[in-house]
Amino acid sequence: MLFEGTMNFTLILSAPFSLLLPSKSLLLDLFSSLYPFVFCSLASGSSGNSYFVGSGDEGVLIDAGISARRIVKSLAENGISMAQVKAVLITHDHSDHIKGLPVLANKFRLPVLATAECLGGIASHYLTKEIDQELFQAIRPKQKIILAGLEINPFKVSHDGSGNVGYHLRNNQTSLTLATDLGFLDEEVIFYLKKASAIILESNYDEEMLEKGSYPYHLKQRIRSSTGHLSNADAANFLKKHFHQGIKNVFLCHLSQHNNLPELAHSSALKALNGNGHKLPELIHVLPRSNATTLFHL
Ligand SMILES: [Zn+2]
Ligand SMILES: [Zn+2]
Repeated sequence: MLFEGTMNFTLILSAPFSLLLPSKSLLLDLFSSLYPFVFCSLASGSSGNSYFVGSGDEGVLIDAGISARRIVKSLAENGISMAQVKAVLITHDHSDHIKGLPVLANKFRLPVLATAECLGGIASHYLTKEIDQELFQAIRPKQKIILAGLEINPFKVSHDGSGNVGYHLRNNQTSLTLATDLGFLDEEVIFYLKKASAIILESNYDEEMLEKGSYPYHLKQRIRSSTGHLSNADAANFLKKHFHQGIKNVFLCHLSQHNNLPELAHSSALKALNGNGHKLPELIHVLPRSNATTLFHL
């Protein structure tokens, strides 16, 4: 297994953060009983991104690119209180992933986990420079974190933010990999996508809509570049080549408002699976840009 050997390092974080060194007994405790594994999207797209992943009665947010008020309200509508949220993991420092973070982190004293480069970007960003830096906890790609009943593995992705990562999260039941805001799928990202039973994969733009659309040339080039975004065709290609029966749910995320349509993203992914002999339309979900989803029990 290509990357398995590098995942033996574990983040050791001291109080007051509830991140724990996974002693053998703790691991046994975490993974020996049945915990429900849940996911919901609070917003997904270039105007704002935020997701919740939970195990048992605790969980983490990934990104806070919408207002803290909306995050709290959408979680409450799914029966989740902020007391159950143990940290917020950040993928990168673009405003559509961090703009709700100052109020959220400061008000709820929520640990902010991101790579050191990303934390540096957050600390100097005009939208987020007011965050109490005592809440910052630097993580490293491939360094395992045990938190909120979850084992979390961050991995590098190619994008033009600072210290960009995706996340693989699992409990004893199931696992989820989030790969958003990335220009291409390298071997390592594919490894983490293939090992999850639920994947949240970027499907940002339809190539033809981008080409014919009104964006200036330099912006089109940025989106298509190896540090830009994944297209519907990129997501479909992954499914065509790597889909297997262990993947139970595919959530297409971060759709562009101007260069994509939910129907196009969905049909492109579906075609890739049908072409491969898989007739499973119910496993493909397109995450809405501005509404929260209900809670998925994965
Ligand atoms: Zn983004
Ligand atoms: Zn981005």
